[in-house]
Formats: sequence, structure tokens, C-alpha cells
Amino acid sequence: MSGEVRTTCPYCGVGCGVLARVEGDRVHVRGDPDHPSNFGRLCSKGSALGETMALDGRLLHPEIKGQRASWDAALDLVAHRFTETIAQHGPDSVGFYVSGQLLTEDYYVANKLLKGFIGTANIDTNSRLCMASSVAGHKRAFGEDIVPSTYEDLEQADLVVLVGSNLAWCHPVLHQRLLAARATRGTRIVVVDPRRSATAEDADLHLAIRPGTDVLLFNGLLAHLAAQGATEPDWIARHTTGFDATLALAQADASDRARVFKGCDVHPADLARFYDWFAKTDRAVTVYSQGVNQSAHGTDKVNAILNCHLATGRIGREGTGPFSITGQPNAMGGREVGGLANQLAAHMGFLQPELDRVSRFWNAPGLSQKPGLKAVDFFEAARTGQIKALWIMGTNPAVSMPDAGKVREALSRCPFVVVSDITRTDTTRYADVLLPAAAWGEKDGTVTNSERRISRQRAFLPLPGEARPDWHIITDVACRLGHADAFPYRTRAEIFREHAALSAFENDGERLFDLGSVSDLSDAAYESLAPLQWPVRRDAAAGGRLLADHFPTPDGRARLVAVRQEGPARPVDRDYPVSLNSGRLRDQWHTMTRTGHVPRLMTHAPEPVLDLARREAQEQDLRDGDLVRVESPYGEALARLRVSDALRPGEAFLPMHWSGLFAARASAGSVSNPATDALSGQPELKHVSVRVTKAPVR
Ligand code: SF4
Repeated sequence: MSGEVRTTCPYCGVGCGVLARVEGDRVHVRGDPDHPSNFGRLCSKGSALGETMALDGRLLHPEIKGQRASWDAALDLVAHRFTETIAQHGPDSVGFYVSGQLLTEDYYVANKLLKGFIGTANIDTNSRLCMASSVAGHKRAFGEDIVPSTYEDLEQADLVVLVGSNLAWCHPVLHQRLLAARATRGTRIVVVDPRRSATAEDADLHLAIRPGTDVLLFNGLLAHLAAQGATEPDWIARHTTGFDATLALAQADASDRARVFKGCDVHPADLARFYDWFAKTDRAVTVYSQGVNQSAHGTDKVNAILNCHLATGRIGREGTGPFSITGQPNAMGGREVGGLANQLAAHMGFLQPELDRVSRFWNAPGLSQKPGLKAVDFFEAARTGQIKALWIMGTNPAVSMPDAGKVREALSRCPFVVVSDITRTDTTRYADVLLPAAAWGEKDGTVTNSERRISRQRAFLPLPGEARPDWHIITDVACRLGHADAFPYRTRAEIFREHAALSAFENDGERLFDLGSVSDLSDAAYESLAPLQWPVRRDAAAGGRLLADHFPTPDGRARLVAVRQEGPARPVDRDYPVSLNSGRLRDQWHTMTRTGHVPRLMTHAPEPVLDLARREAQEQDLRDGDLVRVESPYGEALARLRVSDALRPGEAFLPMHWSGLFAARASAGSVSNPATDALSGQPELKHVSVRVTKAPVR
């Protein structure tokens, strides 16, 4: 690999290893054959990475109110306005909104500054939109936010159930691994998704359930497992609590099979086949993703799935387990450092012993003592004047948040907005101070993928213009705020060592997130760090599966959680009769700030297209190619229409990617419902009641 730099793809949560080589002004990439996540594979997005490196549109200099400024002037102003706001209105009047695109080291210092030294937990992340319900479900069931499985489990399973996951497009390399394993092993694949997605096309069985009926489906499965004697009573007795109450509610919820197949609106024979396969297949993995998480009842959906694995002891063993797949490259790293408003660093929460630990370790007597505002509430607080100074890092909430119009209103009204990013976005236009950040290929640090594997992102290009790494910018502001002693970092390695040491701090043997054996890594060892899967305790073998027979709860047992099927926050009605789903396309990433610049990626879907079920299209006399208006109680979007037979009657689907920069008013976020899950705070992005009408052609 002469001249090649070993790094990690910055897109999805699969976390593929990439070898990058610079030749003149061109960057060439290929999959890293030695990386245990992808073994040399890359998907269309990953293989086009070299074409996203042009500096067109890059932010190269700090700006104040749209005028070029020096770094000193920009950072002094940020520190001054934050200091002034905190002095006048208290620490909860400021906040950070960050991103799963940040590296773990960036995330760590942002979290430490805001929670530890400014004294508010108003730091949330766009990962809230992606996997917060899984975090909450894991904590309810396992006591800690633990993903027990590994990618190998998908290859070693005899049955893989994909729930609310278009793996073929959203995590393509993992899908390729699954299909390769099926070719030799004969793995059965079941897809549970209201939409006939690309992934469903490859399935042995597709259950196109009525949207939002996942809890009923899995409660029915639990009742079936019990009725068939397919649960594991000894394992349940030794390793869990709550089974009887959970089963009782599941049986009441799914009192007979007819109630389930009618409620889920699937063919009785298909339902029976799924239940039979699950009951009779010991090696079963259930993969779930945004279709489960992005719901006003997402946490209950997660727990309904976990209940079935706990009742059968299918967890922590080869080829088994529930498996939440993250959307972003470092959503997991953000969870590790407490990059969510309701978490502290190192997987700790706001219980007093945890507060004491973090406060002592950071020497931060002013550590925030209570959780902060989650994403939707965070921007509402900015809109209503509670938050008066905010800093957005590496994300584009003006488009990606639900009810995005209100978020844009919040950004307009907030007295002081800082944005650090690599390019101009819909959000940067609201910035009082704009800070140029380092991009993929220029920045250096670590990310953690969906299977808990920590990999290095390495720089192979010089920093352009005056761009700086995020951790560096945050540290500079921390020093200007008077906290130089707590932010003495000169390298990313120093930050990584501190983060690892905190995870092993006074380890009580119960918590599983533990990086103890890499907490004293030398600078050279950090530079050459090979991918490693946590836990990496000092006293035990690294990596592998977790939660085989002991759980990080006070009694060491997992908790089955009784959950009941509930409807969406706002069902369809006469005014808004269509249920709109949203999600990713194969070749685009988030709001297209990178992939939108690659012509060959744009050819897959050059404009925003609304898929509408044939029945609704016929009722409205709409045809392929019509320009349509999609209206919800929260906003509207314009899109080209495609009549679809892949959708259930009453359904529509709009990609999440387009924004004002690419097509006027075509963002799924513009019409999305801001209703959130009460436990996780995750918005209901997978369902919004809309009406679709032909747009007048002017
Ligand atoms: Fe990148 Fe995900 Fe594609 Fe791998 S599967 S190359 S991590 S986008």
C-alpha cells in the first residue's frame, strides 16, 4: 500500500476501512482488505469519496456576519458572547448542536466544555434523529447502552430478520456480507417494512406491515413463542426479570393470531411462516434501524424486539442477538463520550455516583447536574428565547430537523449563532460567526461503528485555507472562556487517552464500556492503532459479543419490558389522508452537502421524487412525472411524482436528502411531524400525515 493512508469511510455506521492515495490533485480510494468491517468492499458512496474532495464551496476562512475575519477575532467574539449570555441568563441559555460526523475526540471536548465547565447539558446531536430510541431501549433492558452483536453474527445466523431497515441502500457493505453468507449458508432473510424496498426484493419473506404496528407484531411473536414452548425457561429464570408481566401484556395485546394479522394487515400464512421460522431457528439475529427508532413509540418497539431475544436466550452467542445498526459513521462514538443531552461521558447518566465520578475526574465542580434539552426541544427553546446563544457543529438542522420551518425560525430569532462546518449549507446562512472546519481526509481521530469497533480516521491532505479540526476550535474557545487548565490538549492522542481513562475510572465491574487497556497508549501507538472492538478492559480479552449471561444492571439480570401497541402521534385523517414515510437513497448522504457534488451519484436520482401508492395516485388523477405539492400540518414540499406499486395503499415515500440548496422546498424535514418518543426524544420521522395534490405549473 505504498503511498496509501489507512482511514475510515465518513458515511454510514458500517464503518468501512478505506485506503486513500493522493496523486497530484486527485484522491484515489479503495476498500481496505484488512479492515474487519468490510474486508476490501466499498459501496457506491464510499468508492466515490475521491470525487468529493474538491475545494469548490469549501469554507476556508472564518467569517463574522458574512465578512472575512481572523481566527482571533472570530474566537474572541464567540467567547465574549457566550460569556456575556451566561452571565446575564445563566448556563442553560446556551447550547451546542453537534453531529455524528464529528470524531470521538471532537465530541469528547465539546461535551466536556459544555457539561463540565459551562455547566449546562444543552448539548444534543443529530444522532438523536437516528438511534436515540435504541439507546433508551438498551438502557431499559440491559441497564447500559450496549449493542451485544457483531457483524459476524449476521454471517453465522440461520435467520436474519431486518426490521425497518433498508440495509441494501443504507448499509450496503453489511448487506453484501449478509448476501454472501446466505449464498453458502442458506440463511433465511425476513424483511419487516411497509415498503417493498431494495432489501425486501432480496428477502425470503417480506412482511409489509401496516406502518407503526411493530410492537403488535413482536408481542404476537412473544405470545407465539410461549404457546409453542419455544422460550427458554431456565435461561429466563437465571438471567432476566419481568418475563411474566411482559408476556401477560403481550398476550393481552395480541390475544389471538387474527388480531395480529388484521392489526398488522399481513397475510395470515406469511405471519405464521415468520413466527414458525423464528420459533424453530436458534441462530436468529434481528437487525433494526430507523424504521423502528424514528417513531413516537420507538423505544417500545425496540423493547418489543429485545423481549423476544431475551425470552429465547438468543443474545451474546454466535449467530444470535438483537442488533441496532447506526446511521452515521460515529453515532456510537458520540454515545461513548456522552454526546447526548441525557448522558454523561463514558456511558454514564445523571445518577449521583456518576455525577461525582465525572466531576472528580474532570475536576469540574460546576458539572451540570441535570440532563439538557433534546434536539426538538433544543430548537424550540431557541425559537422561544430560552436559548440565546448556540453553536452548531457539522450538521444542517435547517433542513434535517422535523418541522424544519420552525428550526429556521429559531435560527433567525436566536441572538447569537455560531456554525462550524466544511461548506456552506442551509444552516450557515443563519451564522453570526462561521468557522471553517477540517473535512474528511484532513482531520484525524477515531470513530466507532455499529458493532463497537473503533477505527482511526487519518489525514492525508493538508488543511485548506485556514480550516482547523473541530477539537482544536473547541479547545481554543474553552481556553478563551478561562478553562485552559482543563483543556491543555496539543494532540488528538491526549484527548483519546483521557476519554479512555475516564471509561475505566473506578471501574466497578458492572459497566461494560471500558477502554482501560488503551488509556495509556503512546502517541506512536495511537497513530498506528488498528481497528479494535470494545470492551478493551485491562483484565479481559478484547471485543467480541456481549451480554451472554450477565447484564450491567444492579442484579445482573436483563429486564423484559411490558409494552403495548400504540398508534402514531397524529394518524391520517380526512384533511391529511396519506401516511408519508421518508428515508435514504442508495447514492446520497444526508443533505447531499458532499455526495450531491458527484455527477455519477446524482444520476441515480437527479431530483426529488415522491413515490405515491397507485390507489391514491389514481384517486387524484396523478401520473408519473407530475409535479406535486406535499402538504402536512407542519409545512410543504414540492417533488416529482412516481406512481408506486412498492407501497401499501395510503402510503407515500419522500427521500430525506434534498434541501433548499438543491431544490426549492423539497425537504422531507419541511413536512415532518416534530412529535417525539417520550423516553428517547426521537422524532417520528417515519410517519407524517399529508395530502398530495398536483402543483400548479407556472
Ligand atoms: Fe461507507 Fe457505509 Fe458504504 Fe461502507 S457501506 S463504504 S461505511 S457508506
